[in-house]
Amino acid sequence: DPSPKLDFIREIIADDLATGKHATTITRFPPEPNGYLHIGHAKSICLNFGIGQENAATGAKCHLRFDDTNPEKEETEYVESIKADVKWLGFDWGGDLYFASNYFDFFHDCAVHLIKEGKAYVEQQSAEEMRASRGNVNTPGTPSPGRSRGVEENLDLFARMKAGEFKEGEAVLRAKIDLTSSNMNMRDPVLYRIMHAHHHNTGDSWCIYPMYDFAHPLEDALENITHSLCTLEFENHRPLYDWFIENCPVPSKPRQIEFARLNLTYTVMSKRKLLQLVQEDHVSGWNDPRLPTISGLRRRGYPPEAVVHFCKRVGITKFNGTTDVALLEFDIRDFLNHSAPRRMAVLDPVKVVLENWSAEPLATVEVPNHPQNPEMGNRDISISKEIWIEREDFMEVPEKKFFRLGPDRYVRLKGGHIIRCTGFEKDAAGEISLIRAEILPGTVGADSPEGVVCKAAIHWVDVATGTDAEVRIYDRLFTEENPDDAEGGFLSVINPDSLKTVTAKIEPALATVEPGFSCQFDRIGYFVADSVDHQPGITPVFNRTVALKDSWVK
Ligand code: ATP
Ligand code: MG
Ligand code: MG
Repeated sequence: DPSPKLDFIREIIADDLATGKHATTITRFPPEPNGYLHIGHAKSICLNFGIGQENAATGAKCHLRFDDTNPEKEETEYVESIKADVKWLGFDWGGDLYFASNYFDFFHDCAVHLIKEGKAYVEQQSAEEMRASRGNVNTPGTPSPGRSRGVEENLDLFARMKAGEFKEGEAVLRAKIDLTSSNMNMRDPVLYRIMHAHHHNTGDSWCIYPMYDFAHPLEDALENITHSLCTLEFENHRPLYDWFIENCPVPSKPRQIEFARLNLTYTVMSKRKLLQLVQEDHVSGWNDPRLPTISGLRRRGYPPEAVVHFCKRVGITKFNGTTDVALLEFDIRDFLNHSAPRRMAVLDPVKVVLENWSAEPLATVEVPNHPQNPEMGNRDISISKEIWIEREDFMEVPEKKFFRLGPDRYVRLKGGHIIRCTGFEKDAAGEISLIRAEILPGTVGADSPEGVVCKAAIHWVDVATGTDAEVRIYDRLFTEENPDDAEGGFLSVINPDSLKTVTAKIEPALATVEPGFSCQFDRIGYFVADSVDHQPGITPVFNRTVALKDSWVK
């Protein structure tokens, strides 16, 4: 095989290693612990940890760093969920965990350094005044009175900010860079703001907190990150990133490189919106199988290998776009087609009585667990005089090209006999309530006898030994391709049919599988035993991972 073409980031890295600029790579995945991770984060995880794995021979590492400098929205529950999700995707952060909040002293020292160099000043304008004096793309900013303050006065004011002498909003520390820059990020950005807030790690020790743009390059430099990979919206923050690296007493010089974030059709990806869906009970929680959260995908039955494969296939580029969610579903289906054993379940059952059942003293039939993979073995399924079949596998007046059951027609029961329909009954509402049939003795594992036209095999469940199961049929959460662009907002385009619950009939072995067991329900789709509500042998609950075919194709 020709080696696959490297993406532009891996090209830069290959070059840096070849020229000796770096002997190895240290990348990082830096989530803010203010929500659960989603599949967009998986793209960043695959990139950063992937680079670590690919360069392992040179001693490469990838840090898992919690970017926890904002005291207000962060919770330890999120830290734990993030660790679980990274592990589930198959990546290893190698023991050490990094917390940006452990660097608060260092950030503070860097701020004092900038003040001493005349490169930072305390600003006492209101947020409103500051916005106005900063100008806009057409107008240069104008210096505020604070900008010309001397070093001593700035040191004193900053110490008093830190000591808690000011209320929130009364003062900030700003970098003194360039009020005329065409890049608004360079017009004396805020470095520190006052927040009288409790922090999950540092408690009440601080009442000043660093801004993301200031803290992030310092975190990277302190950890000797070689390549700091972030999404494209940070491209015009890069001059500022580099300015902090140049002007602060840092131990290394990381390079920021931006790539396009992952967006998916029929999906919202921002943590803020996901939080709203959870808090307003549009879904059952962060791990609702309809959410693009990693924990939702896991509960939905998406195999981690398939999620990683998808992230690789989407690739790393410089251009923002939206990926068709059908591509993800395709990868899930493709992976499960190879890996998932087959089982039988009937989602919309109608009873068939095999009137001549005693013609053959069978109690079980043997069926393969996977049609293309004999290594998965066979299993015995009990069968008796009454079975369930899928309502749609019978037509009273069969259409053209309908090859399943109908009056006086033949069909094969998967793994079992060919049967012939001899009659049916209807209920008061005109629905088929019972089908009568006869088995053709001697047809298990054998071709159709002369004169019998049997072109289809259908799945079934034995009435005597099969059990009921709750089956949750999940579909896309939104009806619009770009829910973020909906006129009435993303909540106005929630799919009212994103979850349908049915009581299905399942073959006996399915009732006792462990939570997380994944299989194909023959001819229907891929299903997983729910990790929260499925209780083996007590209350079987299955989630539809993905249908066999894409029903959204227009
Ligand atoms: P959101 O916008 O969904 O709230 P975020 O960027 O604020 O996400 P962080 O916790 O800061 O979330 O993200 C951690 C890392 O994951 C960052 O490096 C970020 O660039 C990356 N990331 C977040 N969303 C995506 C995405 N959709 N595609 C690729 N990378 C992403
Ligand atoms: Mg962020
Ligand atoms: Mg965000």
